[in-house]
Amino acid sequence: MSTIFNKIINKEINANILYEDDICIAFYDISPQAPIHFLIIPKKEIKTINNIKNEDKDMIGHLFIIAKDLARKLNINEDGYRIVFNCNENAGQTVFHIHMHVLGGRKLLWPPG
Ligand code: 5GP
Repeated sequence: MSTIFNKIINKEINANILYEDDICIAFYDISPQAPIHFLIIPKKEIKTINNIKNEDKDMIGHLFIIAKDLARKLNINEDGYRIVFNCNENAGQTVFHIHMHVLGGRKLLWPPG
């Protein structure tokens, strides 16, 4: 089943896009939980972290490279930021197309709620 993120990839709905290439797309979260909160999603549809396969490892690595490049571009790299992947119900996953949250611009609490 396709999700809202597929509609963003296909430009059927708008998003505030920060970056895009053949492998992934990064855009600001519609409901930011920090002054800077964006998502990086693979264009390949994968439901949850549990469904990642060995063949996906380069793509997953790519998401991290883009995350740190965007963190530097948005000037949160030195102060710090958090990368989160929520998996299934207990983690609060609501969109079943894997996505990396990148949050920064304020002091983040630990442990998370
Ligand atoms: P999850 O809870 O699944 O880890 O995160 C899903 C995230 O997607 C949430 O932070 C939510 O605000 C964001 N989101 C859901 N729908 C949209 C949308 O249509 N556009 C954007 N930009 N973000 C969305």
